[in-house]
Amino acid sequence: MSEGAAKKGEKPRKFQAIRGTRDLLPPETALWNRVEQTAHEVFGAFGYGEIRPPIFEATELFARGVGGDTDIVSKEMYTLVDRSEKLEPDPSIGSMNVFFQKVRELYKSGEIPTDEQDESALKIAEDQWKKVDDLLEGGLKSESAGTEIYKLVLFYDALRLGTRVSLRPEATASVCRAYIEHNMQQLPQPVKLYYIGPMFRRERPQKGRYRQFYQIGAEVLGGTDAPAIDAEVIEMVMTFFERLELRGVQLSVNSIGCGECRPKYVELLRAELLKVKDKLGPDSQRRIDTNPLRVLDSKLESEQGIIAKLPRIGDHLCKDCADHYAAVKRELDLRGVQYRENWRLVRGLDYYMRTTFEITAQGLGSQDAVCGGGRYDGLVELLGGPPTKGIGFAIGEDRLILSLQEARKEVASGEWRVASGKIGCDVYVAWMGEKAYATAIRAAKTLRAASFSVELPPVEQKFGKALERADKLGAKYALILGDNEVTSGEWTLKTLTDGSQQKVTEPQLLDFLRKL
Ligand code: ATP
Ligand code: MG
Repeated sequence: MSEGAAKKGEKPRKFQAIRGTRDLLPPETALWNRVEQTAHEVFGAFGYGEIRPPIFEATELFARGVGGDTDIVSKEMYTLVDRSEKLEPDPSIGSMNVFFQKVRELYKSGEIPTDEQDESALKIAEDQWKKVDDLLEGGLKSESAGTEIYKLVLFYDALRLGTRVSLRPEATASVCRAYIEHNMQQLPQPVKLYYIGPMFRRERPQKGRYRQFYQIGAEVLGGTDAPAIDAEVIEMVMTFFERLELRGVQLSVNSIGCGECRPKYVELLRAELLKVKDKLGPDSQRRIDTNPLRVLDSKLESEQGIIAKLPRIGDHLCKDCADHYAAVKRELDLRGVQYRENWRLVRGLDYYMRTTFEITAQGLGSQDAVCGGGRYDGLVELLGGPPTKGIGFAIGEDRLILSLQEARKEVASGEWRVASGKIGCDVYVAWMGEKAYATAIRAAKTLRAASFSVELPPVEQKFGKALERADKLGAKYALILGDNEVTSGEWTLKTLTDGSQQKVTEPQLLDFLRKL
């Protein structure tokens, strides 16, 4: 029996959202919409256009774009094999040789991308099939027949039968892919794009950390690396946060140099770290080899004193990088953007260079970063495009919303209800009787067309009951339609906040409500 089918008499299984994912529900979704609407407005004002890349891409794109050594690519991606359409469903043992032949053809033509491991996996499966085939011919008399067949099935399962695709863990690689794919280098440069949407990372779920989370991000691709571009990108995020009245916003900036000066600094850092290796924790000890810059990221209390004495990248930038960094800070000053310098702010990926920044906000506990960004001039080239300048950022929308909610809890005022976009009901149409129902439908249609939020009960209710429900829904008005109203053409409009009542005719209704 299939896994999904319930046994007779058994209660059907109750489903829950998968760990690390969640439903966003009303009224909270209204806040999400407000945040996203504000992003459209602010980013639009800075001349950015929206891009909506797919949420899955070739795994290879992320492996190259995000970096094979990163946690994201090495352990956090949701990856599956998108089985080639040219392959039949799983074959029976007897016809596996034909199936393997087809797989071999697809490997050869490149339709199924392969590496050495795939080739040898196929060879092993084919050999195993031969072994099993011999056993079958011998009438399965051998004692090991069961084991050999089982092995064949395992080897079959291990084959790659299509392209590996992954749910996107971030969107920068996709945006760069799209820039190349659509020849955007032929457009006036730079090309300014923003996106809003879900990302997927298999991380340990906790407050502000989910497996499906949302990012609002932007990228500036092409043109120059003028410091004004870096500053304007940062100014745009800060303007967005200001517009949302996000609390406790702190911007940290740093420069992490370029391909010229950073490797020299990293070597110096490594040498200094080796001198204090014994005093470091196991993570940092490992990173001395793999990525010394990441040691600077450490939050371990016992390491803070040691890290404070390490050489700082700011003192080891080449002249071009030092000038660029100084100019970015000047440009931020010109724009009235307040920042702190944090020499320990690094980004783990190789392609990041020069300007890096991070923004934190209040009410988020230890996951308090709401935005990370930086310059990545080499990335488009790394993905097969022309040499292209690039800078961008990604805002964690879940954390942004959490912080807004935390702040609003402190100001327990009615203003928040409006801001959070409590599902509105302007008019509750209370009707009784067949004739009144037709009028009620017409009234609801007119009001909704004029953008009023209207609740029309689907079944007849006594007026008392209807008004009770209107109250519960927080409706501002009740439009009362009974036989009397329909006959006289004079409708009753009740203001629920003060209980007052007036008569209005159908043509007067809209004007009347608009004036209130
Ligand atoms: P962190 O150090 O918090 O893991 P990160 O460096 O992995 O962040 P980026 O890849 O730079 O984050 O993503 C930008 C922003 O996206 C982060 O600042 C954060 O607000 C948000 N973010 C990242 N991962 C998650 C997640 N699993 N759940 C919710 N938000 C996330
Ligand atoms: Mg992370």
